[in-house]
Amino acid sequence: MTDKKRRVGVYPGTFDPVTKGHLDIIRRGRGLFDELIVGVAESTSKTTLFSVKERLAMMRAELKGVKGVRVESFDTLLVDYVKSVGATTVLRGLRVISDFEYEFQMALTNRRIEPSVETVFMMTQDNYAPISSRFIKEIARFGGDISHFVTPKVVLRLKSRYSKTGSGKE
Ligand code: ADP
Repeated sequence: MTDKKRRVGVYPGTFDPVTKGHLDIIRRGRGLFDELIVGVAESTSKTTLFSVKERLAMMRAELKGVKGVRVESFDTLLVDYVKSVGATTVLRGLRVISDFEYEFQMALTNRRIEPSVETVFMMTQDNYAPISSRFIKEIARFGGDISHFVTPKVVLRLKSRYSKTGSGKE
């Protein structure tokens, strides 16, 4: 018998809303770990369209039945959350050069705070590179077609949100 340690990773994000780009990172990333925990950030510096409860529910609906993946929300410092769930690694996705600077700073800062936590990056698939929650919300707000970027369940959520709040047009 080996005493191989169970590898647990955390994929943290705002997921406002979850996109096909996020799901691709989760599907490919879960193979790297015995368990991948998707951590939905409760409070973030971004203003969110969906509450943490909604973002959590959307992510759970997408990942129902996917083995080796657990979805939780968290509201502490990321490295503290990572340690509290017995994980050692943070997984993040990279799309374009402009992601790099932010991700680089975050990874270095987290390492400074907690050297035992490592950050690993996965490159997006090229067809997912232009997908960002921010642009999807912009397109959805004006009634554009977002079905290439998010799943049908998320399309419905966005449609219902914007039909309640309107497009924001004056
Ligand atoms: P955050 O607010 O923490 O950046 P996001 O929900 O915007 O949360 O993104 C979570 C992670 O997923 C980030 O590492 C981001 O770079 C990555 N990501 C977002 N969209 C894509 C995509 N289309 N392909 C690959 N990675 C992505």
